[in-house]
Amino acid sequence: MNIAIIGAGLAGASAAEELRRLGWDGDITLVGAESHPPYERPPLSKDVLLGSAVIDSAQVHDRAWYDEQRIELITGSRVTDLDPAARQFSVDGRQISYDDLLLATGATSRHLPMADESGAPVAYLRTREEAEALKDRLTGDLLIIGAGWIGLEVASAARQAGGTVTVVENAHTPLAGPLGEELALVFVDLHREHGVDLRTDTSITSIEHGEGGTHVVLSDGDDRGPDLILVAIGAQPEVTLAADAGLTIDHGILVDGRLCTSDPHIFAAGDVANHDHPSLGRLRVEHWDTAIHQGRHAARSMLGGQDPYDRQPYFFTDQYDLGMEYVGHFGPGGYDEVIVRGDRETRVLNALYIKDGRVVAGMHTNDWDATDHLRALIGRQATDVVRDTKISLADAVG
Ligand SMILES: Cc1cc2nc3c(=O)[nH]c(=O)nc-3n(C[C@H](O)[C@H](O)[C@H](O)COP(=O)(O)OP(=O)(O)OC[C@H]3O[C@@H](n4cnc5c(N)ncnc54)[C@H](O)[C@@H]3O)c2cc1C
Repeated sequence: MNIAIIGAGLAGASAAEELRRLGWDGDITLVGAESHPPYERPPLSKDVLLGSAVIDSAQVHDRAWYDEQRIELITGSRVTDLDPAARQFSVDGRQISYDDLLLATGATSRHLPMADESGAPVAYLRTREEAEALKDRLTGDLLIIGAGWIGLEVASAARQAGGTVTVVENAHTPLAGPLGEELALVFVDLHREHGVDLRTDTSITSIEHGEGGTHVVLSDGDDRGPDLILVAIGAQPEVTLAADAGLTIDHGILVDGRLCTSDPHIFAAGDVANHDHPSLGRLRVEHWDTAIHQGRHAARSMLGGQDPYDRQPYFFTDQYDLGMEYVGHFGPGGYDEVIVRGDRETRVLNALYIKDGRVVAGMHTNDWDATDHLRALIGRQATDVVRDTKISLADAVG
């Protein structure tokens, strides 16, 4: 009996660990395209760039752990030939059969052809190697395309390293999608105060590279000559293998509540999975916490579990001296109002997002005891107590 996992990232490793924890005694084969054992990506844009953590500390487990757990870890091998009917795929010329399979193939950086084709020095940030290369280039003149989480975390690291940073963002207010306009402005102000030239409502008109260096023209008419361009315009789910195998794809691999794909012996978890969440509807979440918990949940489902994955999304970011945690999801329908407790000046605050009279999400910045309370309030009615900002979050939970 073999449970196979394709994709040796955080979701894949979490699933393998959970299978053993639950007492699965059969074989486990974990195959990854990267040459390293599974590692966590959040430090790549934070501590690793800042030099406050070595890259090996991001490993989920060292290689010896997989041997001890009798998990066959195959790295540096991309699977390209999944055959669901035969329940087989091959790795380095060897056929691997499975009883159940987890696809945890994650996501890859979205590319910007205009930058790639320009011949200019262009960087992306997804892998260990990319983080190591970027770390040595933060002190120059950096132009970041995209003010999402990764773009802004790199901006923070580069400013702390003494680099000059321009961030170019199409949107009027970066991060307004996940945070809403009001709270997103906390991050806008933070970066501007730290000397980032943040250009909103701005796009890239052209990128040229020649003997005189790199020449980037912005839609506001300005131009820049950066030493390096970081493209940080998001990620796309890695569905090639699943699509070639005939699984149903729709903005990721389509899975039901239990994380099962259109094939009853194949599951998917983490960044690649477009999940049918029981209270939030269809959702593909690209967050660290989801990779861990969906990985574990898929393990339970492969062993026969019938429960749906119903955890609320959670994510965090660290930029300069600001830490943020966010729990819940207000979805494309947005929210009706946001209730903010705390102090915008010191940026020690928390916020509750209300939709149809209920709390649907919450976040805090530098208010480290808030997360459990925010989580407890999700789904609750926005009563007068919840709305009263003179009442602490802990007392609002009751
Ligand atoms: C720089 C960076 C910073 C981040 N910071 C945060 C943060 O602060 N907070 C937060 O909540 N989230 C953060 N995230 C997101 C978080 O890291 C991801 O959600 C998480 O890594 C997803 O894990 P995963 O296992 O689903 O996918 P991945 O980490 O993408 O792993 C998938 C693995 O599968 C491999 N693979 C793909 N196809 C195949 C194949 N056919 N055969 C074999 N192997 C294959 C890939 O090479 C990859 O190693 C960050 C992401 C990045 C890139």
